[in-house]
Amino acid sequence: MDILRQDIQYIKGVGPKKGHLLRRLNINTVEEMIWHVPRDYEDRGNIKKIRNLKLGEKTTFYGYVYGEIKTSKPRRNLSITKFLVKDESGSIEVVFFNKAYLKKILKPNQKVMINGEIKKNFKGFQVVNPIFDKVDSENEYDKQGIFPIYPLTEGLSQNEIISLQKRSLEIAHKHMEEYLPEEILNKHKLCNIKFALQNIHFPSSVKALKIAKYRLVFEEFLFLQLGLFYTKKSVMHEKKGIVLKNNDGINKFIEKLPFQLTNAQEKVFKEISYDLEKDIPMNRLVQGDVGSGKTIIAIIALLKSFINGYQGAFMAPTEILAEQHYLSLTELLEPMGVKIELLVGSLSKSKKENVLNKIQSGEINIVVGTHALIQENVNFRNLALVITDEQHRFGVRQRQILSDKGQNPHVLVMSATPIPRTLALILYGDLDISVIDSLPPGRKIIKTYSRNSNKREDIYNFVKKELDKGRQAYVVCPLVEESESIEARSATDIANELSCDLLQDYKVGLLHGKMVSKEKEEIMSNFKKGNIDVIVSTTVIEVGVNVPNSTIMIIENAERFGLAQLHQLRGRVGRGNYQSYCILVNNSKSEVAKERMNIMEKTTDGFLISEKDLELRGPGEFFGTRQHGLPELKVANLFKHMKVLTTVQKEIKQIINKDPNLTLSEYPLLKNKLKQKFLITKK
Ligand code: ADP
Ligand code: MG
Repeated sequence: MDILRQDIQYIKGVGPKKGHLLRRLNINTVEEMIWHVPRDYEDRGNIKKIRNLKLGEKTTFYGYVYGEIKTSKPRRNLSITKFLVKDESGSIEVVFFNKAYLKKILKPNQKVMINGEIKKNFKGFQVVNPIFDKVDSENEYDKQGIFPIYPLTEGLSQNEIISLQKRSLEIAHKHMEEYLPEEILNKHKLCNIKFALQNIHFPSSVKALKIAKYRLVFEEFLFLQLGLFYTKKSVMHEKKGIVLKNNDGINKFIEKLPFQLTNAQEKVFKEISYDLEKDIPMNRLVQGDVGSGKTIIAIIALLKSFINGYQGAFMAPTEILAEQHYLSLTELLEPMGVKIELLVGSLSKSKKENVLNKIQSGEINIVVGTHALIQENVNFRNLALVITDEQHRFGVRQRQILSDKGQNPHVLVMSATPIPRTLALILYGDLDISVIDSLPPGRKIIKTYSRNSNKREDIYNFVKKELDKGRQAYVVCPLVEESESIEARSATDIANELSCDLLQDYKVGLLHGKMVSKEKEEIMSNFKKGNIDVIVSTTVIEVGVNVPNSTIMIIENAERFGLAQLHQLRGRVGRGNYQSYCILVNNSKSEVAKERMNIMEKTTDGFLISEKDLELRGPGEFFGTRQHGLPELKVANLFKHMKVLTTVQKEIKQIINKDPNLTLSEYPLLKNKLKQKFLITKK
């Protein structure tokens, strides 16, 4: 057993309790521990006194908790904890949201380390939600040098992570072997892995940190690009695909649609059609902004596979969306004799068995579903086309599992996450790309306003006016990253509050991820039928939901969302011919938040918004594993380190020239690592 991949819980000093906390940080093994890299560093030779702190700077300082620690609860889901931190030069206010437990663990006169951005309110300087730690005299903080600052979770302190990190590094030093070929190390002047890991955590100097970082960035890009190449290669590898012939039925169907396809839709369908008619499996990404009409493209492609006598599968990330697609498909295709079924986790056992049997026998032509589609017990008779909607919610792996259920079926993936094209090529290197670059005609620009939460009454008066015209509205509740249950609670509270007060004469429905799917379906279907005026929801409605009669999107605590996400949410309205509105309720005074709200007010172009998002947030979150199923970049940053990426791409070209099938037989350790990191992803 590889000790580096052993459960972290068995490392001395960890145990089940801490193991559980570490898992919250996605640390399960020693290896994952050492890849839990600092999010920042502090130079302890250079610590400022409180009096010298400057507005806007991100910094570390020390002091004592001074006076009382006060906690207030202005709203049901919000607690604010405040105290002063003082040193011999002055004092500053430190503010925490929803960390009431601090009152229990901090006492007056406790020495603390604070790391955060210096802000200002009307009383003076303050730091909001900083990283902090208790400082006890005999601990690490008294030493000089460059020190790591780690992302934390409740219950784990900087000091604990630091000492665990030291222990993990010791293990790594004993058991880890260099896996990059010496040739590459020499050519690109890369340091070895042990030096890199040691110095990314505990840099012996600024220069050593730089050297360590360069090596790790290089290696992350190398694996990312090699892995993508590998996947593409194995997909393309002389596999015979299924020829789906063109057929008059398709054109007739398109003519009979209630609307005319836009030029962009026609162009994209042509590209797909061309792929389907070849005997090489299609592997294509359709990108199109929210509301650009991707679903109909999927439906026509599925029809094409049906007419040719084959089965198709359509996978969506949420039950709500799968259900919606099921309804659209049924409406449009059932009249043509297509048998369609829904397969989601919440079906009763007997119903599920029935559907599974019919998929296997070929009685069902098209199955629409969620992750349930990729379970082992799903077997097709003759699957020719696999479509995944909102691909960014799935991983590369999941797409693969679904297509493995057929004999090299054609694969179509759809995504509304607008990624700048150059980056799409990196992330979806294994796919061809089609872009639906315009919206259906008649769409009005969604009017977007950023409003302070003290304007709630005005906001809801406006909502009422729209409801009185027969329109419908969504209210989306604040994002709570740690927990779906807290999110659900806050949605429930807001729904109750609205139906008792501001919207008491209207029908308010509630939708969140903790509800069973039967309830969710019922709410959505009642909303669609117009029996519900307003849906209060968590982000479960973020993707795909299509109810053209709803024209208002209210987003509470909009500052907590990323731009791309706000754009997706806003995309739930403006889907018909009515004028639609999006109101971003927020209280935020920070410049970045204001800037973000401003961008949302000014533009509805998804591509522009995502570029801004990248600029403001950095690509770390944007390109996380969760979204793309790729190995997560822990150190490398696609924007900051673009130049390294180019170097890596050149290097890979040379490797491939020498070794066109990428057998990597000269580099067995590299190959092993590649498999570990890339092809055998978790989940
Ligand atoms: P998305 O690209 O976000 O998945 P959808 O496929 O849900 O968008 O389409 C959004 C709405 O636009 C749907 O109500 C759909 O029926 C409608 N629609 C799609 N194509 C056209 C078109 N060419 N003309 C008019 N309406 C269209
Ligand atoms: Mg969609």
